[in-house]
Amino acid sequence: MSKVIFHAGHHPAVLAPGATLSEFPVRGGGPVRDARGRPLHDLRISVTDRCNFRCTYCMPREVFGSNYEFMPHSALLSFEEIARIAGVAVGLGVQKIRLTGGEPLLRRDLEILVGMLSRLRTVDDRPVEITLTTNGTLLAKKARALKEAGLSRVTVSLDALDDQMFERMSDSHVSVKTVLNGIEEAARVGLAPVKVNMVVRKGLNDQQILPMARHFRHSGHILRFIEFMDVGKTNGWNLQEVVSGAEILERISAEFPLEAISASYRGEVANRWRYRDNAGEIGLITSVSQPFCGDCTRARLSPEGKLFLCLFASQGHDLRTLVRSGASDAAIAAHFTGIWSQRDDHYSEIRGRETANREKIEMSYIGG
Ligand code: SAM
Ligand code: SF4
Ligand code: SF4
Repeated sequence: MSKVIFHAGHHPAVLAPGATLSEFPVRGGGPVRDARGRPLHDLRISVTDRCNFRCTYCMPREVFGSNYEFMPHSALLSFEEIARIAGVAVGLGVQKIRLTGGEPLLRRDLEILVGMLSRLRTVDDRPVEITLTTNGTLLAKKARALKEAGLSRVTVSLDALDDQMFERMSDSHVSVKTVLNGIEEAARVGLAPVKVNMVVRKGLNDQQILPMARHFRHSGHILRFIEFMDVGKTNGWNLQEVVSGAEILERISAEFPLEAISASYRGEVANRWRYRDNAGEIGLITSVSQPFCGDCTRARLSPEGKLFLCLFASQGHDLRTLVRSGASDAAIAAHFTGIWSQRDDHYSEIRGRETANREKIEMSYIGG
């Protein structure tokens, strides 16, 4: 047999003559690119759709209340299934894996999954970088085990330093101190530098921009401000509630002068800035005011094994059925390649009044 053709979507993936299935597709076909020429570099894996917070911009309690039906455990991918899909994705060029959710630390024994993923090697034989985004409530307890299992770094979400405002944003009774302890413990065990994500919503927590900046200067942690996005369909997004990255920058630099730092790699989502007095750096994630779809190299895997090609997609591509049918790695790789090669998503570049009301997946299901 001189060549094997995988019928994956509309684009058959062709194995080069003489190549074996185990060589496909990385050594046979090279890293995959989508319809806009974007490679696949990052995989975000949502390990649960559950969360112990009800952040108003993500899981408003009116929608995610006591009657809300979360996924049954049997629907979730097992750690073995996740690791298998991740391994295939790494073979197609993924260099970085981020675990997210819902709240990923609610998934029991997450460090076991971290251990499995940390054994993966990139196509150029380097370790895959494994990171985690968490609301930090369970981090102080879990940080050491996660580090020992091979986690590289963490990103912790924190939208206010003031307890009352934090309770309002997260709609929980967790104290700011609990999250700060998680951040400190993560840094202490070596999950550093810790990134701290603050979603800014105008008229709500934007008065916390400066207190947050002051608090994290000189800490070694990197504070990143995120423009409030129209993800999902439940958070009542409105452009008037977005504080642009430019405005955030203006407010901070009025007190602490800043200068730009260049991106550390193609596709980095944050614009990086450094305090001129060497007090550290901050980031701005300006997905609304300055879309970065042209460099978007991220695929997202949902808790039940659907592959999403964009944060604002309405539909995913089911991988669980294929994995549970006993398909070979090569067949999964071919399917994945077919899906990625047709990817044309660039939602943030076409965002407008009409798109805000489109059917979209929820952030709490697919992760940030
Ligand atoms: N529960 C974890 C956490 O909060 O870090 C991980 C999942 S959460 C969905 C991932 C990130 O998405 C968080 O940093 C959160 O602040 C951000 N996020 C959620 N909804 C958002 C929105 N509407 N606009 C901007 N960022 C959002
Ligand atoms: Fe939970 Fe994170 Fe969403 Fe907040 S942003 S509700 S912590 S998943
Ligand atoms: Fe990537 Fe979609 Fe966000 Fe554009 S809108 S940067 S394609 S996730």
